[in-house]
Amino acid sequence: MSALATPGFEDVKAAAARLAGQAHRTPVMRSRTVDAATGAQFFFKCENFQRMGAFKFRGGFNALSCFDAGQRRAGVAAFSSGNHAQAIALAAQILGIPATILMPADAPAMKVAATRGYGGEVVLYDRYKEDREVLARRLAEERGMTLIPPYDHPHVIAGQGTAALELLEDTGPLDALFVPLGGGGLLSGCALSARALAPQCKVYGVEPAAGNDGQQSFRAGRIVHIDTPRTIADGAQTQHLGEHTFAIIRREVEDIHTATDAELVDAMRFFAERMKMLVEPTGCLAFAAARRLAQPGQRIGVILSGGNVDLQRFTQLLGQAG
Ligand SMILES: *Cc1c(COP(=O)(O)O)cnc(C)c1O
Repeated sequence: MSALATPGFEDVKAAAARLAGQAHRTPVMRSRTVDAATGAQFFFKCENFQRMGAFKFRGGFNALSCFDAGQRRAGVAAFSSGNHAQAIALAAQILGIPATILMPADAPAMKVAATRGYGGEVVLYDRYKEDREVLARRLAEERGMTLIPPYDHPHVIAGQGTAALELLEDTGPLDALFVPLGGGGLLSGCALSARALAPQCKVYGVEPAAGNDGQQSFRAGRIVHIDTPRTIADGAQTQHLGEHTFAIIRREVEDIHTATDAELVDAMRFFAERMKMLVEPTGCLAFAAARRLAQPGQRIGVILSGGNVDLQRFTQLLGQAG
């Protein structure tokens, strides 16, 4: 756990000011098809159109913006299955900070290539055998770099919360907000914004059915650890929530739901066919559950968290279930 205090909504607002002119204010899209099928009103916050293709740029850029001069010189280290890696590499490039990224050897090729493309040095490891947190900590220590974890960091959480801040500014009050859940940076940050801007709005996390550690933790009242889950939602293959993220989730989140890989593929197909959008499997988590749970008349926000999926993988996934 970082020595910094668990963030509040004022930290999300500070992050929004740092991100202004750097992150895209992504569009909020509607779908008559979804609204007609559910009787609800859906508002999609399209972070698949964010810089580097996912919301993680928000947290990464906010965290690196808070570095002092010494930290900037020494550089940043990060571990990630993909999108956090790209986010740190891009934010570091923009801010002129050296970056070293630890990535699993089986991470999507596109994500590894993109991270290198942004100027990050990539170090590969075996995600089923090695403990990435231990490896990353050693790497950062050896090189004097500051380690920015993918979710359990106050500045990362505050940055991610700006996605829901923008959504609620655009939509006004919502009855429910569904957010993809891995380690909980996005969910906890968005919950802070929802509590402040739409106090009646119920916030739900959605994680892969194959790895429901968040749901188990939420119900048990303590952080439950699991083995790396095997799911197509590669951005949510986390083994446990963080100390900061869990503290906020316990307090501000209504419940945690799950979605199966088959439901994610179904949602990917829907977004491609009907809304002409490429959404990665993890990015479909929130909608996969929300379309099942929607009540007629509700105003429902859905975070589409990212769009980084190889086209080859995309067609393969859709073909299998077709
Ligand atoms: C990282 C990621 C998530 C999960 O975010 P957490 O903050 O770890 O809960 C969801 N969707 C995408 C596309 C991601 O990259």
